[in-house]
Amino acid sequence: MFTKVKGTQDFLDLTLFKFFIDQSQRHFLNYDFTEIAVPILESVALFKRSLGEETDVVSKEMFIIKPAAESKDEICLRPEATASIVRAFVENSVQHAPWKVFTYGPMFRYERPQKGRYRQFHQVSVEVIGSKSIFQDAQLIKMFDRLFTEKCMLQNYVLQINFLGCPEDRKLFKEKLYKFLESKSDQICQKCLERKEKNILRVLDCKIETCQKNYEKAPKITDSLCGECSKEWQKLQETLEILSISFIINSKLVRGLDYYNKTVFEFVSDSLGAQSAFCAGGRYDNLVKEVGAKEDFPSVGAAIGIERMLLLLEEVQDKLSLPQPKVLTVIMPVEEAQNELALLVADELQAHNLCTEVMLEGDSFKSMMRKANKLGAKHVIILGEDEQKNGTLTIKNMLTGTQNVIPQSEVVKYLS
Ligand SMILES: [Zn+2]
Ligand SMILES: [Zn+2]
Repeated sequence: MFTKVKGTQDFLDLTLFKFFIDQSQRHFLNYDFTEIAVPILESVALFKRSLGEETDVVSKEMFIIKPAAESKDEICLRPEATASIVRAFVENSVQHAPWKVFTYGPMFRYERPQKGRYRQFHQVSVEVIGSKSIFQDAQLIKMFDRLFTEKCMLQNYVLQINFLGCPEDRKLFKEKLYKFLESKSDQICQKCLERKEKNILRVLDCKIETCQKNYEKAPKITDSLCGECSKEWQKLQETLEILSISFIINSKLVRGLDYYNKTVFEFVSDSLGAQSAFCAGGRYDNLVKEVGAKEDFPSVGAAIGIERMLLLLEEVQDKLSLPQPKVLTVIMPVEEAQNELALLVADELQAHNLCTEVMLEGDSFKSMMRKANKLGAKHVIILGEDEQKNGTLTIKNMLTGTQNVIPQSEVVKYLS
């Protein structure tokens, strides 16, 4: 027997998945976003340049594909979509900014699978490319908040925000943090000691408790902001308040990727255990130029983890306006001689968009009835020798048990 690749999953029921995609699409369109699609295959170099060579995603978690013989480029399965969208913006010379777009699809990271975390996972990515206004960040956050509260009926979540400042602020902060970590080097974990040298901001989201205890007294990046960043950080908080968004400031929130600056945020939920963020993002003012644009296009964006969102939606499933269950008619030819007639009647119903199933496996009448029940049929149409001869059909309402004989020509009218 073949089994699925570790860290992947089969979706045998897409009800909630489709519900979420459908709700987000409609919601984002109302904020004047455009849906786009970008490839799953991208060059490895794109992510090295954008996410940073020292990030876990690039250094350990990439699915790199052996390139075709004629190609020298290393190709990978995309680990996220922001870099791809930025590449598409630059490569297609998109002329209007802000370019407000979203996309959804599978992403790939080779990491240890755990609750709500897969090697092939799905994200909705939303980007506003080419806007330096901090109000845009607030509006984007409001858009997500409204999606989660009103469309997804989530209650049990919190918005965490932080502000990483400009590159100069981070340089200053990294020096302060380095000094602080030097003084604690005998009390923090081996990984943090490595991060301290390579990707120092990442120490702050170390999952180890003793490290976290130590970092409670670590310098805060928001204390290292220049005058202008300080003002924007204040403005962001004020605007979120004006838009009635509740949030908490998490001074340890830095996000894993190199490209973030200024605003970073995460929507987190206790229901998800340790991997608690289900939507995360922030501002990336330098990435577009880094990926090849001639000028700066300050940008902000975020991604929603669909697998984690599905875990949250399962909890509130009863409150969601999910699509109505189908109204099914099952047609039962009593003998093989009625199969053609059964297909003709089914064809007529299906042409009128009436959901119809035909029993063609030659089962006994009793067994067909049992199957129809199991399928949740509302009506069963019985076609035997008599019905065939008389141009009629017997139709049974499975809820009430009532049974009628009607002319075949009236079946659509009867069921509509
Ligand atoms: Zn600054
Ligand atoms: Zn640590």
